[in-house]
Amino acid sequence: MRTLTELKFNNTYSELPSVFGTQINPQPLADPFLVSINPGICDLLELDVSEASTDFFVDLFTGNDELPGFCPIAMKYTGHQFGQYNPDLGDGRGLLMGEVLTSQGNKWDVHLKGSGTTPYSRQGDGRAVLRSSIREYLASAAMHGLGIRTTHALAILSSATPVYREQVERGSTLIRIAESHLRFGHFEYLFYTSQHAELKLLADYLIKHHFPDLLKQEENVPNRYAALFHRIISLTAEMIADWQSVGFAHGVMNTDNMSVLGLTFDYGPYGFLDDYNPGFICNHSDYSGRYAFNQQPSIALWNLSALGYAFSPLIDKALIDEALNTYQPQLQQYYSQKMRSKLGLAEKLEQDSALYSEMFSLLASQAVDYTLFFRTLSTIPKDALTDSTPQFEELFTCTAALSQWLQHYAERLELESADDQTRLKQMQAANPKYILRNYLAQQAIELADKGDFSMVDQLLLVLGSPYSEHPEYENYAALPPQWGKELEVSCSS
Ligand code: AMP
Ligand code: MG
Repeated sequence: MRTLTELKFNNTYSELPSVFGTQINPQPLADPFLVSINPGICDLLELDVSEASTDFFVDLFTGNDELPGFCPIAMKYTGHQFGQYNPDLGDGRGLLMGEVLTSQGNKWDVHLKGSGTTPYSRQGDGRAVLRSSIREYLASAAMHGLGIRTTHALAILSSATPVYREQVERGSTLIRIAESHLRFGHFEYLFYTSQHAELKLLADYLIKHHFPDLLKQEENVPNRYAALFHRIISLTAEMIADWQSVGFAHGVMNTDNMSVLGLTFDYGPYGFLDDYNPGFICNHSDYSGRYAFNQQPSIALWNLSALGYAFSPLIDKALIDEALNTYQPQLQQYYSQKMRSKLGLAEKLEQDSALYSEMFSLLASQAVDYTLFFRTLSTIPKDALTDSTPQFEELFTCTAALSQWLQHYAERLELESADDQTRLKQMQAANPKYILRNYLAQQAIELADKGDFSMVDQLLLVLGSPYSEHPEYENYAALPPQWGKELEVSCSS
């Protein structure tokens, strides 16, 4: 484990030509302090967790000090927001501070969100508030705990600097860690500004650092770019299958919020399903429901098509279309794998689609809690499924339709070869007990606003291993209160 000054750096992005961004330092926040540190993410960086309690750490990540190995840069990108192309995007309130190189040769971007204005801030103040930083911090940990690929958050810092939203809030920063911060929008920027040599340079950069096997596999350069696009499509399909299976709604699937590594990226007004509602819209500003939960699979394809268009100077149109055609079947395959694990079905049978449709209409018609339905199902032995099912009483208003489905499910389980205890164990490893419910994040935020960060740390711990039991935090696995389902979250953060 290293101190901050012992970290090794490899700032590859800053070596790209100047059109890729602007070098600029973070702007200081007043009277800064640490809110929370994630020890698991320190481990990724090989950073000693005790560094977080030093003044240098706090000062460095609030714009009050400098680390010689860093080379802060605001990345330039553009993107489609709610379907409209916006040429004026880029890191408007964040900076890529540097890239840390671990002893294993892993490269991690260290990004500071909330670091002040940049040339891409437009009318914004370049700041982030404590509320939004906590939401991103907890969501990154929750997704990682669920086994879903995501950016990470090392720590949250806050300050006495006032930031004006609907009310005055505390200027705060989030240290985001990711293999890469490259977005679909980076490629769109170079395409729409006709910088095709730079577009090629960026594709080569992405291959070199993140898909180096393609250099060997695809000697033919045009094929290599097509292969790169295929990889991005597969990673995106897998990410969307993951989201749909755990009930995660991103909320702002603009192309500038899509990672080319298939990482869940840029947490804003996201939401995890409480009641199963396929048309769930988590973003209060999404009036048309473009980014509703059940629209995510097709929106990801829309975004991939936008990326494919940006790749058109590098890849033949026919090859782009061919690649895009692989998205749907891959998504279907990943998703069906995920759902089979959730139901403990090792075998794939034709008749299962009827079982799934019956289950989803049952959950939707009675607005059943998505997470607790599957977790409860993971605790009932096959022979007990058709008995009166007291475990489900809290979740269903009418158990007659449920009994019928349970009977179909029990019949289906008869066709499985694994023994029942093994099945239940596997199901518990596929169905989380703990999920980052909106109201839990809200409670943690309200306490944090009063200077009590204990709930942030407790949720970090529980959500880090959501498939395990945490008897001391049983309350975090409870059904949400009615008010907790009605909270409104929008883009203003
Ligand atoms: P987001 O909705 O967070 O994905 O941000 C979309 C664009 O707006 C990006 O270019 C951001 O950098 C920029 N942005 C968001 N909030 C702010 C802010 N408070 N100040 C400056 N730029 C911002
Ligand atoms: Mg964004």
